[in-house]
Amino acid sequence: MTDVSERPEEWASKGIDITKPSIARAYDVVLNGKDNFEADRAFVREIVKVVPEIYDVAKYNREILGRGVRFLAEQGIRQFLDLGSGLPTVENTHQVAQRVAPDANVVYVDNDPIVLAHGRALLAENERTAVVTADLRDPKAVMSDPEVTRLIDFGRPTAIMLVGILHHLHDDEDPQGIVEAYMSAVPSGSYLFVTHFCASSQAARDAEKQYLAILGTGRFRTVEEITAYFDGLDLLEPGVVPLPLWRPDGPVPPEGELTVGQRLMYGGIARKP
Ligand code: SAM
Repeated sequence: MTDVSERPEEWASKGIDITKPSIARAYDVVLNGKDNFEADRAFVREIVKVVPEIYDVAKYNREILGRGVRFLAEQGIRQFLDLGSGLPTVENTHQVAQRVAPDANVVYVDNDPIVLAHGRALLAENERTAVVTADLRDPKAVMSDPEVTRLIDFGRPTAIMLVGILHHLHDDEDPQGIVEAYMSAVPSGSYLFVTHFCASSQAARDAEKQYLAILGTGRFRTVEEITAYFDGLDLLEPGVVPLPLWRPDGPVPPEGELTVGQRLMYGGIARKP
C-alpha cells in the first residue's frame, strides 16, 4: 500500500485533518502500518512514555480478534457486524471467518473516511464483504444501511463485534445502551464480542490521561464496568480476562505474572440466550 503520509494534500482535500491524531491512524501506527501522519506518530510517542509495550498491546488485540472470529465461525456464526473495524491490516475479520466458513458475510463499519478509502480496495474482495462509513453510536442508522441489510439478516444469529472501540465512547454517550440496542436487534444464538482498555494498573490510568488529553477519547474502565456490557447474556469461559488469556492457542503465563501491557486490555465473548 502507498504510504499516505507521502501525499498529505490528497488526504487534506478529502476533508481529513492530518494535523490532529485520529483513532484509526494512531492504531495503524501501533500496528506498524503506513496509513498515518506525524500527528498520529507524535501521539503514540507520548503513550510509549507511559506504556512502552503499547505496540504489543495492539498485537494482543489483533490476536484475540482472530481467535474470537475463528471461534464464532466454528460455532456456526455466518454473519459478522464489525463495528469500529479500523484500517485494513493482516488477518481481517472476513479473512479469518471465510477461512472457516466461505459462506460467512462480514460488514465493516467505521466513521473514519480513511477506512472506507482503503477498505473498499482491500476488504471488499468478494460479494460477501462490505465496508460502510457510519457512526456506530447510531445503531438504528447502522442497522438500516442498505449495505448492512444486504449482507446481514437480523433474523439470523449474528456476531456483534465491538473490538477495541467501546473505550472511545464517553460515559455520557451511553456505551451500555448502544451495546443493548445492537443486542436487542439480533436473535437468540447471537454473540457479543468486546475488547476494552482496562484500568488495571497505574500505567493504564496514566495512559488514560494522555488519551483523553491528546486524542480526546480513551476511557480505561474497570473489569466490573467491562463485564457489565455482557449483562443479560451468557458469558462464555473464561469470562472477561486479559486478552492473552482468552482461549489462547499456546501456553501463556499465569494471570499474576502478566505484564502491564498484557493486562492493559480485557475482553470476552457472550452468547445471547
Ligand atoms: N476493531 C479493530 C481492532 O480492534 O483491531 C480496530 C480498532 S480501532 C482502535 C477503533 C476504530 O473505531 C477506528 O478505526 C475508529 O475510526 C473507529 N471509530 C471510532 N469511533 C467510531 C464511531 N463512533 N463509529 C464508528 N467507528 C468509530
